[in-house]
Amino acid sequence: MRHVAIIGSGPAGYYTAESLQKALGDAVRIDIIDRLPAPFGLIRSGVAPDHQSIKAVSRRYEAVNLTENVRFVGNMSVGKDVAIDELMAIYDAVVLATGAPNDRPMEIAGADLPGVIGSAAFVGWYNGHPDYAALAPPLDSGGAVVVGNGNVALDVARILSKTRAEFTGSDIVAHALDTLDHSRIRSITLLGRRGPHQIAMTPKELGELGHLERAAPRVDPADFPDIAADALLEPGMRKSVTHLREFAANPVAKPVTIEFDFFSRPVAVEGDGRAERVIVERTRLDDELRSVGTGEHYVVPAGLVVTCIGYQTPPIPGVPYEHGRGRFANADGMILPGLYCVGWARRGPTGTIGTNKPDGAMIAERIIADSGGEGFTPSGKRGRQALDDIIAARAIDIVTFRDWQKIDAAEIAAARMGAPREKFVGIDAMLDVKLR
Ligand code: NAP
Repeated sequence: MRHVAIIGSGPAGYYTAESLQKALGDAVRIDIIDRLPAPFGLIRSGVAPDHQSIKAVSRRYEAVNLTENVRFVGNMSVGKDVAIDELMAIYDAVVLATGAPNDRPMEIAGADLPGVIGSAAFVGWYNGHPDYAALAPPLDSGGAVVVGNGNVALDVARILSKTRAEFTGSDIVAHALDTLDHSRIRSITLLGRRGPHQIAMTPKELGELGHLERAAPRVDPADFPDIAADALLEPGMRKSVTHLREFAANPVAKPVTIEFDFFSRPVAVEGDGRAERVIVERTRLDDELRSVGTGEHYVVPAGLVVTCIGYQTPPIPGVPYEHGRGRFANADGMILPGLYCVGWARRGPTGTIGTNKPDGAMIAERIIADSGGEGFTPSGKRGRQALDDIIAARAIDIVTFRDWQKIDAAEIAAARMGAPREKFVGIDAMLDVKLR
């Protein structure tokens, strides 16, 4: 029997578990440990609430959990309730599937003013992540700036511009729905430090901006290179750029504008005790397509500034870490003998949910090969039995998958009309349900 602990119950963790389960059948026991009582990581707290079809992948992860050889251990924090070293002593392999939940900081003057918010916090707020439920982002001024030209920036701009009716069928949490309903934001400026050919936005997500009830995108036709250059783009990018060209060619007047401000970078946030405006510098591309400042500055009024410029994996004391790239130092997923990483914790915050599937399969294969492949001889480690001893000795109030199913059912029962669920946003509220 091989004993494996996976830290983090998001897509990377579940795809690793699924691959190990398929390859080893009943010869493996896997514990998926998460600091939150609710599983599924980014599926629950990162994927936008109005993208329910993407969230449906959690049903596949549920199936992995409803087997004997995989179990969910929620509400247990590695580093606080149990140390990595302790886990390595009791499991044959420990896999860090902890994602990249921290914002990459925007290092400019005024970035610490109230009203400047990282996307992890802002997305966590509208998705009901317990760490960010109390965020209360200021939506009381007419302007908002969203920094970055990736899919997260698109999510944030879209969520800021939707009407209450457009959230029907989503699982946006009540506190965010009510706050957004009273938003005064009418101008959302997306700052991209490079141009339309350098965006990191996918076509489906970009196309959605063309179908919003009260908001419309605005793109300056002067920002595009000659149309012949589009033929050199890979197909997905070409589709995205085609959307942008359509937005530029057919400007639509609606009460809320989503302005694509290309070739622009924030250099300071200013305001009297809170964000009121962003000082922006015009940029151009150098020969290697990097953005360089031109020295021309202008002001964009904004009471809310959301930075969507990428994420970082939090370091764990004693675990080798690559600071520049914000991920664990690893060679093809191995950090140290017996300690692995997968998903964003391994490769950095890139790729869609599906990218984690081959990643999980690769790590599963490595774990099997590194532990002797077919010739595996039991190490004598006790895995989950030993973890149970730790849980009992420290009286850790863990959440099992059955407990989660009760929480899930309570969320579904509490759903407002047309919504799939109303999420609990506090850990204590979830733990209370477990006792019912
Ligand atoms: P991303 O795709 O890496 O985009 C980050 C953006 O921030 C880029 O435009 C980058 O510009 C810009 N940026 C970085 N540092 C900056 C700085 N200091 N100043 C100004 N701009 C800066 O990251 P993301 O949007 O956080 O998304 C993370 C991953 O999740 C991506 O793979 C994304 O596709 C995925 N995702 C997918 C979906 C979906 O499929 N629906 C939704 C959300 C997220 P440069 O290019 O110039 O560096």
